[in-house]
Amino acid sequence: KKFNTYGFEKDIVKAIDTLGYIQPTKVQEQLFPVILNNEDAIVKSQTGSGKTAAFAVPILNQLQWDIRTPQVLVLVPTRELALQVKDEMFNLGRYKRLNTQAIFGKMSFEGQRKQLAQRTHAVVGTPGRVLDHLQQNTLDVSNIKYVVIDEADEMFTMGFEEEMHQILQQLPSNRVNILLSATLDEHIEKLCSRYMKKPTYIEV
Ligand code: AMP
Repeated sequence: KKFNTYGFEKDIVKAIDTLGYIQPTKVQEQLFPVILNNEDAIVKSQTGSGKTAAFAVPILNQLQWDIRTPQVLVLVPTRELALQVKDEMFNLGRYKRLNTQAIFGKMSFEGQRKQLAQRTHAVVGTPGRVLDHLQQNTLDVSNIKYVVIDEADEMFTMGFEEEMHQILQQLPSNRVNILLSATLDEHIEKLCSRYMKKPTYIEV
C-alpha cells in the first residue's frame, strides 16, 4: 500500500514525500484506518517502528486550520520525546501550516503561555506541565478531539499516573483516545478500560 491510497489531503502527502517516506510501516498501515474511523486504539510497538507518524499523519490530516485552540494533545514521559514528536508533527503539518507546541517542565511557563495564546493546532507535553497549564487556564482544551498517550509504560514508570487521570478527566468526552506502549500490563489495561470505548488492539 502507498501513502496516497488513504485519502489524505494533498498538503499531508506532500509533507510525507518531502520526508522521503516511500511506504507506510506496519504500524502505520494498521493505525491509519482506525484513526480515520474515529476509533480508539491500543498500540503495542517499539521506537523505530514509525509509531509517531502512525498517529500524527491521520490526526493532522483531520485537523481544521481555522480552529484557534488545540485539537490534539499528545502526552509523553520526557522532554526529549516531546521535542522529537513535536519535530515530526511540525514536519508532517508544515504545508498545512499547522502549529505544534511542545510544553514541558523546567522551561519558562510564561514563554509557553504566550505560545499557547497563538493559534495552536497540536500540543505535545509532559503531564506535570500540561496540568500546570490546565490549572492556570493557559491551555484551552475545549476543542480537543484526539488525545495520544505515547510510551505509556514509561509514563507509569515515571510516576505520572495521577497526572494522567487528572488531565484525561478534563478533556471533552467525545474525543478519540490512542495509547502506545512497548509493553502492556494491568495498569495500562485499567487506564484504557476506564477511558476508552471499544479500543482496537494493534500489535506489530
Ligand atoms: P518512530 O518509531 O516514530 O520513532 O520513527 C522512527 C523513524 O522512522 C523516524 O526517524 C521517522 O522519521 C522514520 N519513519 C517514520 N515513518 C516512516 C516511513 N513510512 N518510511 C520511512 N521512515 C519512516
